[in-house]
Amino acid sequence: MTRAIPFRRKLILGIAAIQLTFLSAMILDDVQTLRRSSEDQLVKRAAVASAMMAAGAKDAVLATDLATLDSLVAELMRTPDLAYVRVRAADGGILAAAGNHGALARPFVADTALAAVQNQIFNVSHDITAAGQSFGRIELGISVHAIEEARRTALYWGGGMAFAVLALVALFSSLLGTYLTRGLDRLRQGVRSMEGGVLGTQVAVVGKDELAELTVAFNHMSATVAELYSEVRASHEHYETLVQAIPVGVFETDAAGACIRANPKWRRLVGVEDPSGHGDDWTGNVHPDDRDAVVEGWNLATSLRQRFKQEFRFQQPDGGIRHVLAEAVPMGDDLRHRGGFVGTITDISAIKRAEEALADHAAMLARQHDNLKSLNEIATLTDVSTGERLAKALALGARQLGLEIAIISKVDGNVYTVLHHAAPPETGLADGMTFELGSTYCAITLASDTVVAIPHMARSEYRGHPCYAAFRLEAYLGVPLIVHGERFGTLNFSSAQPMARGFDGGDIEFTTLLARWVAAVLERATVMADLARSNSELEQFAYVASHDLRQPLRMITSYLGLIEKRIGPQLGDDTKEFLGFAVDGAKRLDRLILDLLEYSRIDKSTKSAPVPLAKVLDDAILNLTVAIRENDAEIVVADAWPTVKGDATELTRLFQNLIGNAVKYRAPERRAKVEIGCRRQGRQWLIAVKDNGIGIAPDDHDRAFAIFQRLVTQGEYDGTGIGLAVCKKIVEHHGGTIWIESAVGHGSTFFLTLPA
Ligand code: ADP
Repeated sequence: MTRAIPFRRKLILGIAAIQLTFLSAMILDDVQTLRRSSEDQLVKRAAVASAMMAAGAKDAVLATDLATLDSLVAELMRTPDLAYVRVRAADGGILAAAGNHGALARPFVADTALAAVQNQIFNVSHDITAAGQSFGRIELGISVHAIEEARRTALYWGGGMAFAVLALVALFSSLLGTYLTRGLDRLRQGVRSMEGGVLGTQVAVVGKDELAELTVAFNHMSATVAELYSEVRASHEHYETLVQAIPVGVFETDAAGACIRANPKWRRLVGVEDPSGHGDDWTGNVHPDDRDAVVEGWNLATSLRQRFKQEFRFQQPDGGIRHVLAEAVPMGDDLRHRGGFVGTITDISAIKRAEEALADHAAMLARQHDNLKSLNEIATLTDVSTGERLAKALALGARQLGLEIAIISKVDGNVYTVLHHAAPPETGLADGMTFELGSTYCAITLASDTVVAIPHMARSEYRGHPCYAAFRLEAYLGVPLIVHGERFGTLNFSSAQPMARGFDGGDIEFTTLLARWVAAVLERATVMADLARSNSELEQFAYVASHDLRQPLRMITSYLGLIEKRIGPQLGDDTKEFLGFAVDGAKRLDRLILDLLEYSRIDKSTKSAPVPLAKVLDDAILNLTVAIRENDAEIVVADAWPTVKGDATELTRLFQNLIGNAVKYRAPERRAKVEIGCRRQGRQWLIAVKDNGIGIAPDDHDRAFAIFQRLVTQGEYDGTGIGLAVCKKIVEHHGGTIWIESAVGHGSTFFLTLPA
């Protein structure tokens, strides 16, 4: 590197060089001028001298007066600087000569310019003429030594002067430079001091010149820099404090992706002490299962200089796992950042745990939802026998819990009987099988009198249980069954496989609810069996009673008929009237008994076949022809009627009773109108029989369906109070319901449903 030349020296040298150039040119020019004028003078002097000599010597030459010529020549030689004088005759002969012998010895050659002069002598000649004729010639030489001397002196003095001027100029320049550079020096020191880190350095302002202005500007700039620096520093400190305190790992890498800076949180999460030590690979503690993906992702991001974002796990020194979210973005490609990355690593373990808990919870909820659906499915199992319902419930429960064996057991003393079961055939289980209670896990359930859930028998305290030894059932879930308030047995599920996920609250809740339902079904089954028995006994009794009652009644009626026939004419009017009452009573009693018989027969005559309701209605209306005609009733039947499953006779009876009542209980003040319609409502048919009769008070709506219940007096409307009871029984027998909507005085509508 070339050494910098100080400004002052440059200034002095510069001025000196300029001055030197000028002075040299000036001196040379002066010397040249001097020389030229000396030359002119010389030439003129020589010409004048030679001319004067020629004039002076003319007569002597003409007279060939050599003595005069000699004295003339001698006289002339007294002239300073004259080197020689020679007078020649016209024939060239020398008439007189004096002066420098060397010069006289040399052949004469006239000089015209000083530059051509040889031997320091300027030679000049002048012809001696008279009357236009040449008689000789004067030759003389003038020494140019003096001129040369003068020129040298001039040069010497000029040089001396130039040197003096130069010295003066140098001195002046040095002084000026010192003055100028003092201010610059101060500025330079100021800059150096700032370079050295003393921001805000102020330089003394001297004078009012441009340098002073520059110094003021420098001071201002220095103060601004100091201010900005302190702001930057404060912001940096702020940033650093944040980075140090922030609960997120913050890091910076070089362009190659190697970490060069990081905060304490990063070190703790990543498990690397010195991030700038490139030997410490930050991926070293990434979970082995995640490492490949992380390294690949990071390499891709750094090579393409694109954003990096990935979730993965770190293995902590204590063996724990931390879930993190790492994000990094490429920084500018400028000098400071050099294409590195800045990024964060956030510990999302808590979020992950919460997510997992949530997922578990959601899975549990989903299972519970499924459990509820299964329970609902189980509870709504219809059209099957109790045994089938229980078996289906067991299968559903086993599927729901993911255990292959499900049993409803009855426990009597020490005997465990399989009442119902659902299990793969290879288990060899069969309903009715018995075991010793002690050899089953249910002994544990019944002893604890609560739910027993063992997800993995081999790892439980019961691994020594005889049931485990005998059947190797790993998972077991059992609940005691309480029927009619007494210990009945158990509902239990088991499997040869352990329950990997364990049993949760949802499983236990599900099994408990299922056990309650099973117990209820078992209870109902016994109640129903009792009820069916008593019902059939009752119906048997009613049937027999009604049947047997008709016998004596028929006798009474026929004897009353005989009495009327035999002694009727002799009887008084009152007696005839009494006899009439007796006959009516007997007839009414007979109808009552017939209706009762019909009522008691409904359940027995179960014939289930497709029944077109249109036909049923036609038959019912046909049976009522007389009543309809007598009451002048208008019957309006809808067009479209479905076919339902049921008993045609019973359904005809149903409509016959309802239409018959609608006609019978007509309002006297208007013509009876009965409208019968039907529409689909979900999984059933909704049928309405609407009249414009006397109506039924809301309080009587339920009572109307009870047997023997009449809401009118016998005198007003004839009847037995059994018709609607029969209707209700028929509808329920067909799986439907019946109800009334009515406004007293405006008519009634009997609604009924039948399964579609
Ligand atoms: P019955 O008609 O033989 O009296 P039901 O069992 O058929 O017996 O009817 C019970 C009671 O309900 C009737 O006595 C009557 O008061 C009332 N009832 C039935 N159908 C109607 C109807 N369509 N309009 C008004 N009341 C009715």
